[in-house]
Amino acid sequence: MEYKFKAEVKQVLDIVINSLYTDKEIFVRELVSNASDASSKLRMQKLSQACKISDDELKIEISTDEKAGTFTIEDRGVGMTSAELISNLGTIAHSGSKAFIEALKESKGELGEGLIGQFGVGFYSVFMVAKKVDVFTKSEADEAAHWSCDGSENFTIESCDKPERGTKIVATLKDEYKEFSQKSRIRAIAERYSAYIDFPILIDGQKLETRQAIWLKSKSDLKPEQYEEFYKFQTHAFDKPLDWLHFKSDVPLELNALIYTPSENTERLGFGKTECEVALYCKKVLIDSAPKKLFPEWMRFAKGVIDSSDIPLNISRESMQDSGLSMKIGRVVLKRFLKHLAEMSKKDEKKFSEFTKRFGTFIKEGAAVDFEYRKELTELLRFESSLYADGAFVSLADYVGRMKPNQKRIFYACAQDRAAIEASPYLEAFAKRGIEVLFMYEPIDAFLVGNLANYQDKTFTSIDAADIELDDIPEESKDSSPISSEDIDALKSWIKETLGNEKVSDVISDGKRLIENPAAALNADSLTPQMRAMLKAMNPDSKLPPATVKFEINPKSEVIKNLNSLRKNAPDLAKLVLEQLFDNALLSAGLLENPRSMAKRMNEILSKVKP
Ligand code: ADP
Ligand code: MG
Repeated sequence: MEYKFKAEVKQVLDIVINSLYTDKEIFVRELVSNASDASSKLRMQKLSQACKISDDELKIEISTDEKAGTFTIEDRGVGMTSAELISNLGTIAHSGSKAFIEALKESKGELGEGLIGQFGVGFYSVFMVAKKVDVFTKSEADEAAHWSCDGSENFTIESCDKPERGTKIVATLKDEYKEFSQKSRIRAIAERYSAYIDFPILIDGQKLETRQAIWLKSKSDLKPEQYEEFYKFQTHAFDKPLDWLHFKSDVPLELNALIYTPSENTERLGFGKTECEVALYCKKVLIDSAPKKLFPEWMRFAKGVIDSSDIPLNISRESMQDSGLSMKIGRVVLKRFLKHLAEMSKKDEKKFSEFTKRFGTFIKEGAAVDFEYRKELTELLRFESSLYADGAFVSLADYVGRMKPNQKRIFYACAQDRAAIEASPYLEAFAKRGIEVLFMYEPIDAFLVGNLANYQDKTFTSIDAADIELDDIPEESKDSSPISSEDIDALKSWIKETLGNEKVSDVISDGKRLIENPAAALNADSLTPQMRAMLKAMNPDSKLPPATVKFEINPKSEVIKNLNSLRKNAPDLAKLVLEQLFDNALLSAGLLENPRSMAKRMNEILSKVKP
């Protein structure tokens, strides 16, 4: 018998056929999930009748026929009566499509691209690829029926011969979509979207490897090995994860999440930028393997699964991004993840230290740029410190808790590694006074402290800054300098004159910063050395104004004493020595632009060394 689709169904069909999904392949996902739904319904029915049914009796069979150009899927689920066929497939009764139609009405027929993307329409998606669809179905409550439609406005329902319960759908593919009658193609699609379906799936008789959706299980039922095995399967990884967080939430969204931190940060190893691999599922069916707006950029190291039944199953991938739903989901999970890290930092320092070594850089990135989570992220920051050995980390809260009573700033040093900081002339002033200094080795650090500016009202200050006020060190009397104060003044003005105003804004010798080292360049510039390095890296040809520094000399050091005598006796050599001393100081400060000129000068100085 012939029926006419309700006008709205026809409208939906037209849209589906012409423009709804860019991914045609998702029709497989939709049909498999319908088969799975029908099988679950049957299992529930049987359960209520106290009749247990084995999974094998509920297998889902897919077959492909390249010659005939068909795709067939058959389940042993509840099936449909003729009346159900009309109402389920002939009218818009179900959720996704209904919402779609309502939005259509509201928009008065003006369908913007965005609107189309926001809804999906399950079963009808098969018409994207099929020119004709036949549904053979048998419910326990009715005779078997055959529904058939060629995508036009009519469909027919006839009785047919189908002894076993369930539904069989045969899609005769359009010429341009014959690829969906290839076994390998279908297999790949099913593996991708339907790996966690509860029922056995057979493709041309061959069983698809399906897994348990362990994220829906209770934590107490799972062993660490199961988490590890799932991680490898889901993310195609070979390593063991460093850590995972498994939780369930009911408000504001219903969801289950299993978020892994891998064992290694591949960006650190020089591979390209990592992409977040947290996939979004709705009741075990993949919606999007890499949802774009789920998490902020800095969370890109995370892997795992989020399953939310609040996602309409039919929704298309495009629409997830429009709807803001994935951001909402992401926020719920992220809040929990940050709490989890905070707990780890307290309960399992060793693990958190491993986490920091590998992924601390992402936490820094987040703290630097993400206002929404800055507070939580800042507490998770860890640095090495002058008070502890290599590899030990301190938090900003630790640092502030240990600050000297009159200390108002958080001091830090940036360089490529610990040795470079320890060899620089800046550290000794702080070490002598017992002031802790945070050590920073990563390119992002300078950017981070620049963006944070302060923590608990204490300003971050680089130890090479010129404007640091330091206390006197009591046991060192200032006038222990054997150079007379007149000589010091003369030496300072000679230095200033020799080096020039554009290089040094001032020469100082108050003796507070330098204890062993002869000289240091204090940064008096608006551009920090790290900013300079960054600008240079971004644009190697850029001409930055030369760095201007305050030049501090240490009149107690042998080098400065000798320089003072040389200035009087051998002015030419004195000039060379001064330039060398200045370049050494710039080198330590990370401000030396052209180290090559140093070698030439060095040779010149050496040539003047006479036995
Ligand atoms: P949804 O799955 O969101 O309800 P669909 O468009 O995918 O929407 O399916 C429409 C309806 O058709 C389903 O709600 C179900 O009642 C019925 N249906 C589809 N496929 C099957 C099937 N294989 N077995 C039984 N009923 C089915
Ligand atoms: Mg469906």
